[in-house]
Amino acid sequence: MKTAARIAQLPPYLFAEIDRKVAQARERGADIISFGVGDPDLPSPPHVVEALVDAARDSATHRYPAYTGMPEFRRAIAAWYLRRFGVNLDPDTEIQPLVGSKEGIYHLPVAFLDVGDVALVPDPGYPVYETGTILAGGEPYLMPLAPERGWQPDLDSIPPKVLERARVMWLNYPSNPTAATVDVSFFDRAVEFCRSHGLLLAHDAAYTEITFDGYVAPSVLQSDGARSCAVEFHSLSKTYNMTGWRIGWVAGAPEAIEAIKRLKTNIDSGIFDAVQAAGVAALDGPQDHLAATVERYTQRRNLLCEGLASMGVALEPPRGSIYLWVPVPKGHNSESFTNLLLDEADLVAAPGTGYGPSGEGFVRFSITLSDDRLEEGVERLRKAFG
Ligand SMILES: *Cc1c(COP(=O)(O)O)cnc(C)c1O
Repeated sequence: MKTAARIAQLPPYLFAEIDRKVAQARERGADIISFGVGDPDLPSPPHVVEALVDAARDSATHRYPAYTGMPEFRRAIAAWYLRRFGVNLDPDTEIQPLVGSKEGIYHLPVAFLDVGDVALVPDPGYPVYETGTILAGGEPYLMPLAPERGWQPDLDSIPPKVLERARVMWLNYPSNPTAATVDVSFFDRAVEFCRSHGLLLAHDAAYTEITFDGYVAPSVLQSDGARSCAVEFHSLSKTYNMTGWRIGWVAGAPEAIEAIKRLKTNIDSGIFDAVQAAGVAALDGPQDHLAATVERYTQRRNLLCEGLASMGVALEPPRGSIYLWVPVPKGHNSESFTNLLLDEADLVAAPGTGYGPSGEGFVRFSITLSDDRLEEGVERLRKAFG
């Protein structure tokens, strides 16, 4: 069987080696604790589950959903944007529901890149920006991120030759994997830059609601001019612990939303209406579940920071996301430190190089494991390295 060349073009799956080692360790009976996957362990809000069950009993939800999503869901998204960011969106022209935001993130390059066009992609970053670009026939240009610049790209260092061919710039704050956060002034500059170079600015806002210590994450759509050159992806996955439900949206520049709509009518047939009804309940309903989730994450973040400090890894506690982005101890690289954690403490973390070459020297710890497993993990850090 011959597969398409584009399959061979995909970057190697960097977790494959770890998966193999974990499987080996489990075979010898090891009790592995994984800080590897970023998938909320806490349940979805009960009133959201109720809304799903009620809606699923109504046979009107059993048919094909509308391509453009339920009007009630789009209106709930618009009301949420207004409450949360003071941004007043038209639910008909500026919002498109998605089958999880990953779906839209993957498809965006299909709608905006011709063969040979460039997408500017943060390195390290969520792998889908790069793979979506490659599979659309585009070329990713990796914007290296570094701690000295707060993990923000140096826009002025992007070569003019690259900018000539660039059509899209991806950003993601609070960031996966770096946990970096920005203030709205950074978005102001990025919007200005994208406008002057004719780029579509695509901001992945998956973690704007998971923030700590009083920090409030901005939306890119708050910046002047963003409404004509930017789109923003959001999802119920992290905000309401709904990763399994597959529901999100993209909002922003009407021309871009129109193109995404047109593409999607040819690909999927929308989100189960009962899931959208649950999405309305999540956005419109009480938000105490989110507050409780953030409180739990704050405790876990603190606990893990303390554990890492005991092994000599000093870390400024991040203001957002569900990750700690941890510099490896002297004498190690991402891979050797990941191996050390596994071999010496039966702990799994994600090597920074899995998110791009500039992730070298870091590992990512996710805080989405149960409190007792996290405590046990921290104990192991102390015992093995303290
Ligand atoms: C989790 C995550 C998403 C959300 O994906 P869904 O498809 O909405 O579940 C998007 N971007 C980043 C960076 C993420 O970490």
